[in-house]
Amino acid sequence: LGRRINGALNDLTRSQNLDEKAFDGMVKEICNALVESDVNIKLVASLRTSIKRSVDFKELGPGVNKKRVIQKAVFDELVKLVDPHAEPFKPKKGKSNVIMFVGLQGAGKTTTCTKLARWYQARGFKACLVCADTFRAGAFDQLKQNATKAKIPYFGSLTQTDPVQVAREGVDKFKKERFEIIIVDTSGRHRQEQDLFDEMVQIQQAVRPDQTIMVLDASIGQQAEAQSRAFKETADFGAIVITKTDGAAAGGGAISAVAATHTPIVFIGTGEHQYDLERFQPNSFISKLLGMGDMQGLVDHVQSLKLDQKDTMKHIAEGVFTVRDLRDQLSNIMKMGPLSKMAGMIPGLGNMMGGMDDETGAMKLKRMIYICDSMTEKELDSDGKCFIQQPERMTRIARGSGTSVREVEELLTQQKMMAGMAKKMKGGMANMQKAQAGM
Ligand code: GDP
Ligand code: MG
Repeated sequence: LGRRINGALNDLTRSQNLDEKAFDGMVKEICNALVESDVNIKLVASLRTSIKRSVDFKELGPGVNKKRVIQKAVFDELVKLVDPHAEPFKPKKGKSNVIMFVGLQGAGKTTTCTKLARWYQARGFKACLVCADTFRAGAFDQLKQNATKAKIPYFGSLTQTDPVQVAREGVDKFKKERFEIIIVDTSGRHRQEQDLFDEMVQIQQAVRPDQTIMVLDASIGQQAEAQSRAFKETADFGAIVITKTDGAAAGGGAISAVAATHTPIVFIGTGEHQYDLERFQPNSFISKLLGMGDMQGLVDHVQSLKLDQKDTMKHIAEGVFTVRDLRDQLSNIMKMGPLSKMAGMIPGLGNMMGGMDDETGAMKLKRMIYICDSMTEKELDSDGKCFIQQPERMTRIARGSGTSVREVEELLTQQKMMAGMAKKMKGGMANMQKAQAGM
């Protein structure tokens, strides 16, 4: 999707005289790309109107970076779509907060339940799990295994077949034991759809959740709207979790679900392991959807890994990004893997490595690190301008690292782009750090 949108924008930037027709054509191309990545057709139509409204075509004179202006308009409109302007639920300490999960079979409920319990546990809440899926054989075993691995207390039954009964018993028991986060996992399939919905309502009435969360697979596609609407009408969930965002799906369906139900996405699942859960951030979600790279996501990820990042974090907070910062990031990516997932987080790197398998990509990264390692300390700590002023430096480094001047240039372009983003992020990072300090 990102490549297609960029393609459309590049065509536009190249065209000499931008007339209204060329502009319309480009907006149309972008909208087609969005529909193909499963953003709802009706939504895209209204998006098209608002993009046209927000870009003043006459102001896009020759001096203006047209690509930037239009890219930003598309970005802003999409961010608006995933921002439902509703406050997400905040559990209270010292009280029993009951959270119930709903969603179709295979969406990722059981996996996400454990992730979320662990998330709250890590933040000082006493958390536990209740398995109210008595429909699927093995459902309780799966939850038990996950919970044991994450050291989360759990409740379930192998003999009781009434999910409402199990849910009630489990929640009552844990409430008495003063658990603060009680997460109820439910079944996602029944012989009849109506049975599933009836069961959901009965469990909801039995445990009276403070928060009901709908779990949606990122690859849901165009059914997202109808499905989330049907669940909303029955179970009135107050939050959405999108799972499998590490997969191939662009996640356009998720946008449709938010727009159809006016419900915020609170978390995204980024893998199969218990730590693969991130707070949803509209900006980074849309950047990734558009293939623009995701600085914020990278920063969060790197922070959560507790790698040696102090200098880079400090630099980004100051709006600086040196060649050495890039080198550190590259070598961290090598450690973090899988490469294909990480590369998408560094602006531009995803495009550069697009279509490469992990092995070829790793080779590419290694060569970039060799380039950095052939630089002097001063060059590494620079903002890269010295290479532009004295291009012979690039020749020296290419020779020293066994690479080509073109590769050195490519690396410096990368660093320059990230320096630009760091500069832009300066304010945002300061706010983020303040927010984290307050947590
Ligand atoms: P449920 O039927 O809704 O309870 O779904 P499960 O929790 O059993 O998950 C179904 C499958 O999706 C399992 O194989 C999970 O490992 C996988 N899964 C869940 N969340 C994620 C995710 O964020 N990323 C990936 N890659 N796989 C996931
Ligand atoms: Mg399940």
